[in-house]
Amino acid sequence: MGEIWIKEAERLGDGSIGGTMDTPSAPPRVVWHTTESGAGNAAFDAVGSYLTKVVSEPHILYDPTTDRLGQYGPLNQSARALKNDGSTRTNRTGRVCIQIEVLARADKPFTNYWKPGPNFTALMRAIRSWGVPDTWPAGSCAPGASRPRTTWATKGGHYGHCHIPGNDHWDPGNIDRAAILKAAGGSGTAPQGGTSGSASGSSIARYKVTINGLEYGYGATGSHVTAVGKALVAKGCSAYAEGPGPTWSDADTKSYALWQKKLGYSGSDADGVPGESSLKALMGTVPSKAVATPATPTVDLSNLIAAARRDPGLKQGGTTHAADVRIVEAALKAEGLLSATYAGDGSFGSTTVAAYRKWQQKCGYTGSAADGIPGKASLEKLGAKRGFKVKA
Ligand SMILES: [Zn+2]
Repeated sequence: MGEIWIKEAERLGDGSIGGTMDTPSAPPRVVWHTTESGAGNAAFDAVGSYLTKVVSEPHILYDPTTDRLGQYGPLNQSARALKNDGSTRTNRTGRVCIQIEVLARADKPFTNYWKPGPNFTALMRAIRSWGVPDTWPAGSCAPGASRPRTTWATKGGHYGHCHIPGNDHWDPGNIDRAAILKAAGGSGTAPQGGTSGSASGSSIARYKVTINGLEYGYGATGSHVTAVGKALVAKGCSAYAEGPGPTWSDADTKSYALWQKKLGYSGSDADGVPGESSLKALMGTVPSKAVATPATPTVDLSNLIAAARRDPGLKQGGTTHAADVRIVEAALKAEGLLSATYAGDGSFGSTTVAAYRKWQQKCGYTGSAADGIPGKASLEKLGAKRGFKVKA
């Protein structure tokens, strides 16, 4: 049994906000929210009573600027800040589903300016007392985060409101997920599904961080992980039994910790999970995802117009400009305007023209302006939404 009431927290409301969990055998989890308000004591009091009034209480209200901590209800029961996912009661998913409203705004990530203090440590102590692992199973909270239903149902750890299936809020914004775990001090439990490690491995940090779009830490994979391992070996910081590989293991963490200690870090700053400055010192630069992702494709507008008008100079049914056409067809399909049968045939035939007309109408064009022949503005709009550039 974990902590039900956090002794450092002030009590808010009448202490009764929910009920028993629906799936107590599912792993324990935390959901972070932001109140989309200012911070400070006046906001704490006003938002605090507002959440009771609208019956949307979380378990916890936290002020990241003053470290003030309030608690509405027992952590072993449900809170009320989530919408159901169909008939699934997301508020009642897991052994616990501890919900925290932070007095902040999603578009100004609070970890950029917060001052976590002893109350934040107390909050994280209570969270860990329920066995919530120090992980973010659904990844980043940046805009566009996904809401993976199976992950939510089966994995314990920390989530943002932006990750919860059946919900449409995007809080808490792009917070520094590693900073949340780090500010708690100490070390949490191993991630769900992770190996428990060797006898000496129980104190090894098992959380991940994202730096410049790339993940580091236990379980992270990619060629950038191998590159870090090789650089560590080159610096004489090796705890590897075998050579470094593309999946971050405890050996990578131990090796990286040697590097951090070499740089003069200690305690939790030398836990073997990279920070930006130690990474830059090691690699000479901060590796970025850009090198690994394909370049944005470019569509030539004049090629498209020619293909759509079936310029008599072109061979009917030929493959001229098919590459450009396919990119646009894929975008129209993604918009739900073109069926899979025609998407990708590379021919700007009457079906594709009809689909493009629908896109133009969607953009607000009417009459002859919505003739199904691509124009610069509508094409750029489609490209901005679906990931291609336009050469006009
Ligand atoms: Zn929320």
